[in-house]
This record gives sequence, C-alpha cells and structure tokens, in this order.
Amino acid sequence: MKFIITGGAGFIGSAVVRYIIEETEHHVLVIDKLTYAGNLESLDEVSKNNRFNFRQVDICDRKAIDNILNDFKPDIIMHLAAESHVDRSIDNPSVFIETNIIGTYTLLESALTYWHSLEKDKKNNFRFHHISTDEVYGDLHGTNDLFTERTPYSPSSPYSASKASSDHLVRAWYRTFGLPTIITNCSNNYGPYHFPEKLIPLTILNAIEGKPLPVYGNGQQIRDWLYVEDHARALYLVATKAIVGETYNIGGHNEQKNIDVVNIICDLLEELVQIKPNGVNHYKDLITYVTDRPGHDQRYAIDASKIYKDLGWQPQETFKSGMRKTVQWYLDHKSWCEHIKDGTYISSRQGIIKK
Ligand code: NAD
Repeated sequence: MKFIITGGAGFIGSAVVRYIIEETEHHVLVIDKLTYAGNLESLDEVSKNNRFNFRQVDICDRKAIDNILNDFKPDIIMHLAAESHVDRSIDNPSVFIETNIIGTYTLLESALTYWHSLEKDKKNNFRFHHISTDEVYGDLHGTNDLFTERTPYSPSSPYSASKASSDHLVRAWYRTFGLPTIITNCSNNYGPYHFPEKLIPLTILNAIEGKPLPVYGNGQQIRDWLYVEDHARALYLVATKAIVGETYNIGGHNEQKNIDVVNIICDLLEELVQIKPNGVNHYKDLITYVTDRPGHDQRYAIDASKIYKDLGWQPQETFKSGMRKTVQWYLDHKSWCEHIKDGTYISSRQGIIKK
C-alpha cells in the first residue's frame, strides 16, 4: 500500500514513518513544510530506504497537494501536520487557524477530488485518517471521570479550538460528501524526537545545562502520558483496520501530575548523569514555579477501551520504562537537540542546511 503522511518530519509523524518503513512493506511519502518543529534528521533512519519519499510542501498549497495525490496515488492519507504547541497558540493564534483549519480543509478538498477519480476497488479501500488530540474535550475536574468518544467538545486554547474545528470539518466531509475518514484523539505523547519546548524534553535538557526547570502554577495539572511508539502502532492499526466514519480515543492509562513528571526526570538524571553542572547539588533544586498558563486545563484522562475492544490495541510501554528510554535518548542525541533548536539539519548529501 501507499501512505501519505503529512507532518512526517515532526515528533509523532516521524515515529509513524519509522514504524511503517521498518515494520511493513508499504511505501511512504511524507509531506511536510519543515516549520521550526519539523526536522529531516528525525527521518535519518529511514531516509535511504527506497520505499521512502519526502516533499517539502505546505498543506495549504492546494495545487501542490493535488499534484502529489495524482502522481503518488495514495491508498491512505494520515494527516498529522499541525501547529501543536499550546503556548505558541496563545502568543500567535493565526498560524494555528491557517495550518490546522485551512490546511485540513485544503487536504480534505484535494482528497475528495482525488477519491472521486479512483476506480471502484481503490476507491472502496481509500482512507483519510485525521490525527487529533484529547484537548478538544476541554478538561476534567473530577478524579475518576474519563474522556470517551462521546464526550462533548469544549476546547480551551486556540490550539485545541483549531484542532476541534479540523475534527468537525473531517466529520462533515464524511457525512456530507462520503469521504472515507477516520479520526483518532490521543492524550499527551512523550519519547524520542520531541521538540524541546515541551515539558519532558525541556526539563531534561534544562536540567543537564543547570538551567531552571519551569513548572506552571502549582504543578498539580494531570496529563495521561503515552509513549510515542505505542501511539504510532495504534495509528497504523486504525488506519489499516478501522471502520470508516469511526472515532477512537488513544491513551496510556497513565495519569501523572506535571510536578511528578519533573521529579521522575530529576531522579533519573541523578542516576544517569552524576557529574552535574557547576553549582547544582540536586537536579530538583532547579525546579522553579512560574505563572500559570492562561486557560490551563486541569486534568486530561482517556478511556481507551474502545480501541482495545475493537482492534486489540493497548500500550506496551510502562511510564517507568518509557521515561528511562526517553531520558537516555536525549542524553545520547544532543546534536539533534541543538540542530532542531537552531533550525538546521544535517543532510548526508549537502552537509548542514539552515531551514
Ligand atoms: P509537531 O509539532 O512535532 O510536528 C508537526 C509537523 O507538522 C512538523 O514536522 C511541521 O513541520 C509540520 N507542519 C506544520 N505546519 C505545516 C504545514 N502548513 N504544512 C505541512 N507541514 C506542516 O507535532 P506532533 O506532536 O508530532 O503532533 C502531530 C499531530 O498529533 C498533531 O496534529 C497534533 O495535534 C496531534 N497530537 C499531538 C499530541 C502530542 O502529545 N504531541 C497528542 C495528541 C495529538
């Protein structure tokens, strides 16, 4: 089969690409604009495979997307390209509206035209898989309630509102035009290749440089963490096995307070990096509480029983094993961290490239 993966140079997209190229015989074409969050070095492990292809394209560029669909003739489109950082959406919502809403609309229109042009078998088997977030549901205030696929949408931030809008568009293109779509809403991911503005990589990298470890508000916000490779497996399963029109929640059954996540990282670093930066006695001494994010959601927690019941998926990684792997990965890949932060990437053919 042929997969188009939008946002395939980002954190989750690159994990999906690595999974499909390494674990299956399928062909993959990545479409990615290479914003600050995308980096070709995240695809190094698969870039030489002859089943892998890459096009640097903006998903809002209808003509370029039309040409790619007509030339490559995908069986499945997995749509992960997005602006994804809540803090950036508060500072500058416009690019979130552009990419997450207009970009998804553009892809849907292009996919619909392409789908209409297909012959019967290929048309019946085509899938448009939209990858979304549990943040569309807003937040939970109780301690036991969970987001299900029937929880009403109530997004809090410009990011989650733009993702909610894109989910609505995808459902409308299914209901109104019959485009064979599937949606997944996942909880917070962690793992290798995560841009170091997000809590877990930021904490690891700041700690080993002896910088403050910022924690919003009182640090009591709860997130349900999922190891990114477990998410990639779930996405592949949904894209290839789910019934058209379905929605699946994906989560790690793993709720953690933000402050506890930071403490776990500090404990792991005490063990793994014993030579500390100058002036640091304990990594935990670097924890610094900062003014809370406006509109900050209190608790997210996913009921992932439907994907387990229908498709047999459940996470393989525990938080303990996943966090150890993650911290070790960042310690071993300092050059990736430097390149993604300064907007460069290494091309095996052309040396260092500035985006
Ligand atoms: P990311 O920010 O790491 O990567 C996004 C990728 O999209 C980047 O490679 C970027 O270059 C690309 N991109 C951005 N705008 C584009 C455009 N206009 N055209 C083409 N490419 C563009 O994001 P991520 O964390 O990998 O998230 C991927 C998807 O999963 C997003 O849709 C996000 O909403 C969703 N999601 C993320 C999480 C999480 O914890 N990270 C959880 C649930 C759902």
